[in-house]
Amino acid sequence: MRIAGALIALLAGLGGAAAAAECGPDKLGTSRIVSVGTQGGLEVGLKTYPRTIPLADHEVILTFDDGPAATTPAILKALADQCVRATFFDIGRNADGMPEIARQEVLEGHTVAHHTWSHPQPTLRYLPGGDAAARADVLRGMISVEKAAYGQTFPEGEPKDLKDLKLHAPFFRFPGFADTQDLRDWFAANNVGIFGVDLWASDWIQMTPEEELKLVMGRLEKNGHKGMLLMHDNHPWTAEMVPMLLSELKAKGYRIVHMVAGPGNGPTVPAPQGWFSETERVIGALKPRLEKSAVKVGPGPFPVKPAPVE
Ligand SMILES: [Zn+2]
Repeated sequence: MRIAGALIALLAGLGGAAAAAECGPDKLGTSRIVSVGTQGGLEVGLKTYPRTIPLADHEVILTFDDGPAATTPAILKALADQCVRATFFDIGRNADGMPEIARQEVLEGHTVAHHTWSHPQPTLRYLPGGDAAARADVLRGMISVEKAAYGQTFPEGEPKDLKDLKLHAPFFRFPGFADTQDLRDWFAANNVGIFGVDLWASDWIQMTPEEELKLVMGRLEKNGHKGMLLMHDNHPWTAEMVPMLLSELKAKGYRIVHMVAGPGNGPTVPAPQGWFSETERVIGALKPRLEKSAVKVGPGPFPVKPAPVE
């Protein structure tokens, strides 16, 4: 198992290097593959957890949440043009609606990971129905993404329990980073890693692509010229910004690190002294609003909305 995992990681690494070489020195490329093990659970990303994936100076991990969406193909094209690989935390409901885009993400060498089925407005923490409802939404989302992105089939029926689901990438990100201890324990028991972020583009706020680019580059600089970055591939301003970002990263000497699922646990590096959870402060401030949105969503295991269409 370990050897198989290491071999896969090695092959993935060779693939990444080959892709970057084909792309030529004028392109950003993917400079390194990091094999991330989630055995026994993993919690990374300094905005929420006191540890993260170790990166060297000027190394960046690109992650995108909330797709697949109508704007995702433009981002995939920008990444392909620069031979850059990223991690997509897909929403199950969207993968149901646009399975071909989720599949394309995998076929183009990206890691496709999980971000619930319905992306509930009140977050999983304040979901009506509590942790049981949250688990159901997470599992349903994982099954949808496995089917759409990885073509996994379930001839004997869809698993009713996370332990019976073999994930291609056992990586999960909480909507709004609003975790619960029960869900953290559940993921750890099932060898699923929880991914926060080190810095974000704040692209849930509408802005111009130029404004977003300036903001991201400024934050990278403040963050010691490295980190795991969060963007959202469902926003047009981000789709427009990504090609500019990749050129800018290349010009400023940044290198892209791509995460793939691997054996074991980690690697991780502890947070610097004086660390605190920034997301916990934000969630605390938003709590009344999140709880209110739970009332609006109404009872039921999860708010079922039709899959988005173009
Ligand atoms: Zn999200």
